[in-house]
Amino acid sequence: MTESARIRILDPRLANQIAAGEVVERPASVVKEIVENAIDAGSRRIEVELESGGSRLIRVRDDGIGIDESDLPLALSRHATSKISSLDDLEDVVSLGFRGEALASISSVSRLELISNVSESPDGGWRVVAEGRQMEPRVTPAPHPRGTSVLVRDLFFNTPARRKFLRTEKTEFGHVEEAFRRLALSRFDITWLLKHNQKVVHQLPAVAEDQAGRERRIGSLLSKRFLDESLHLDLEASGLRLWGWVGLPAHSRAQADQQYFFVNGRIVRDRLVAHAIRQAYRDVLFHGRHPVFVLYLELDPRVVDVNVHPTKHEVRFRDGRLVHDFLFSSLHRALAAVKPNAGEAGEE
Ligand code: ADP
Ligand code: MG
Repeated sequence: MTESARIRILDPRLANQIAAGEVVERPASVVKEIVENAIDAGSRRIEVELESGGSRLIRVRDDGIGIDESDLPLALSRHATSKISSLDDLEDVVSLGFRGEALASISSVSRLELISNVSESPDGGWRVVAEGRQMEPRVTPAPHPRGTSVLVRDLFFNTPARRKFLRTEKTEFGHVEEAFRRLALSRFDITWLLKHNQKVVHQLPAVAEDQAGRERRIGSLLSKRFLDESLHLDLEASGLRLWGWVGLPAHSRAQADQQYFFVNGRIVRDRLVAHAIRQAYRDVLFHGRHPVFVLYLELDPRVVDVNVHPTKHEVRFRDGRLVHDFLFSSLHRALAAVKPNAGEAGEE
């Protein structure tokens, strides 16, 4: 080892840029993080607007609790969160965020602007701008209704290696739309809007938390056909509840691209879950076909660990066996009424 190879603490901006590699892959991941913050803030209405697939501008506006003037600079720093304060809190975390990393990461690789207002007075808002810098951000008055707007401009402008990985506007927007779909499927009680290049792509009013209301949302986000060719289920056992819609074999796809599974409102991609579902469909689906489903698993937050990966797409169940068997038997029973590879919807 040479003498110059000394150990140094990374400067905060570089540390944030490195951390950004884990959570900020493309515009869709920025949208996911910022919208999750809006959900955590108790918003009833969330608007997402993009320009050029999100690489030029991502703007998310919510009507949530807002961020206090004095907290605005803090919201941009790493490990700054209002959601947990102890390891105990982590045990039963119910908010989507808790790591306090998203805004710090995003602001280190873009030009980020936060405008927020915690009061009902329309000109009680404040703005803070961060531009990949580590200078103390300046807070200035800015009118804004109660809630928060986050504007992310020129994503990866200062990290050309990452910018090179961005695909065409159309592809990036496709990923954003998919992220939006997952978020809008996770909260039926929120009113959603998605705009791209000034055009409205999805406009979804809040719906009643009943089957008819939810089916309206699913019909406009996925398809009416899926609803016609699926079974609705709602089952409960040993502290677990599973509800949602499972596509009939006739509605299967060549790709596993329409599979939505939520654990306590958080979308997850989990091997154990995937395995249980695959097993349940085994007898009714041709090899190489993939089912379509929108499923919600609800269980005590203390028996599931969401702090497995920074994007929180993975979860760990305390009793994996129990969850697996519950999923398998619930779906297997529902699908048993359906004829193998039936071309028509079963009677159900
Ligand atoms: P985390 O969500 O893990 O707490 P973030 O970096 O995503 O970390 O956000 C940091 C903090 O900024 C949050 O804990 C919250 O207090 C505040 N915040 C961010 N976005 C919003 C928002 N839309 N409304 C209210 N507060 C917000
Ligand atoms: Mg967050």
